[in-house]
Amino acid sequence: MVANGQTQVEPDTALRMLNAQQQQFEQGIVKVADNVFTAVGFHGANTSMIVGTDGVIIVDTLFGPTSAAKAAEAFRQYSEKPVKAIVYTHSHGDHIGGASAFVGDERPDIYATDRFGSAEGVNKAVDPVKMKRNVRQFGRKLSPPESTNRGVAPANTHDSDRGEGYLPPTVTVPDSGLKTTIAGVEIEFHIGPGETDDAMFIWLPKEKVLLAGDNFYSSFPNLYAIRGTAYRDVLSWSESVAKMAEFKPHVLVPGHTMPIQGQEAATAALKDYSEAIRSVYDQTVRGINAGKSPDQLAHEVKLPEHLQDKPYLIEFYGSVPHAVRAIYAGLLGWYDGNPTTLNPLQPKLKARKIAELAGGTKKLTEQMKSALEKKDFQWALELADHVKWLDDGNKKLARKVKITALRGLAAREYNAPNRNYYLSYANELESGHLSEVWF
Ligand SMILES: [Zn+2]
Repeated sequence: MVANGQTQVEPDTALRMLNAQQQQFEQGIVKVADNVFTAVGFHGANTSMIVGTDGVIIVDTLFGPTSAAKAAEAFRQYSEKPVKAIVYTHSHGDHIGGASAFVGDERPDIYATDRFGSAEGVNKAVDPVKMKRNVRQFGRKLSPPESTNRGVAPANTHDSDRGEGYLPPTVTVPDSGLKTTIAGVEIEFHIGPGETDDAMFIWLPKEKVLLAGDNFYSSFPNLYAIRGTAYRDVLSWSESVAKMAEFKPHVLVPGHTMPIQGQEAATAALKDYSEAIRSVYDQTVRGINAGKSPDQLAHEVKLPEHLQDKPYLIEFYGSVPHAVRAIYAGLLGWYDGNPTTLNPLQPKLKARKIAELAGGTKKLTEQMKSALEKKDFQWALELADHVKWLDDGNKKLARKVKITALRGLAAREYNAPNRNYYLSYANELESGHLSEVWF
């Protein structure tokens, strides 16, 4: 097999791995302490209920009221006490959109950080393209046989009521954090920027439960999302997770995927996670200072060997090469420092020169077809992208090659966003709905 990406394996293996990951978000309630319950798999993210003396606290509220109502109903078999407080770990839509389903007529306090809402940071000006890329990353339009999952979430979630149950925060957690008692439960809010700048984690000192929000889930973290995100502060993310490890929790409740039980396992997972992020950051920075380009580094940087087999660091959602590129661009912007790339050839002119080099358009087209036959899918894609620019190129054929190569790559991927993106893009090209600009 000609593999180019490090999350590409034999198709059977990729599928088996993704199917196994499915267990991380199968629907159910997990009792993580005598008075703490986590609902997994009711939508993409988790929601938790902490039961106190005269009421309960809800941490995160899913994506919309429909899925939230199902989780709320499932919680009711453990407690029917009224909701005294809601906590948003951060402002991503899959954690805040279903609040109304938990509260009925009550209006509890709603806790969030001072920076709540700063999560996205990507300018609204590019929303049209962001939406397209979001649909691809999550495979929202894939057919059931094409769907696997989203890496840290199931594929088929109820999304049409997005944000309809959102209730705005009423209590601001300051940068110094907050320790308080709600419904008789001692609870601590700690600021922890990471996946988002507005993130915090929750510590229950009596129960020794730590609710991590999205700074931890069972997958290498999504330090960059291919749907398009502003730079996520990777170093802060690593530091926030290291801070969580210091609590030595008995149970770690992630923002997505199954809780990790047991002090040793939970603490080790947090330490490893922090180290993994830090290592990718440090290797990238060292490479940058040695004058290496993002293309080189994306292939060179690897997780330290002792972390490669940790189940919570497999790249089902985040990807090391994508993280490397994000760190590069986040620290230095787009330019790789090589004067050759200051003013690269216009794509059309480059395609013409590549065709000349190959011995003409016909020969280049032969090479493209042969790459596909050899299942050298990445090379087939790159050649198809040249052929499409040629005035005498067979665009129809190039498009067909691209579609087949994308599906070939998708089958090998256990990184869910990559897999979903390849498949979705292939379908869009095939449907003819994608304008020439995209091809
Ligand atoms: Zn989330």
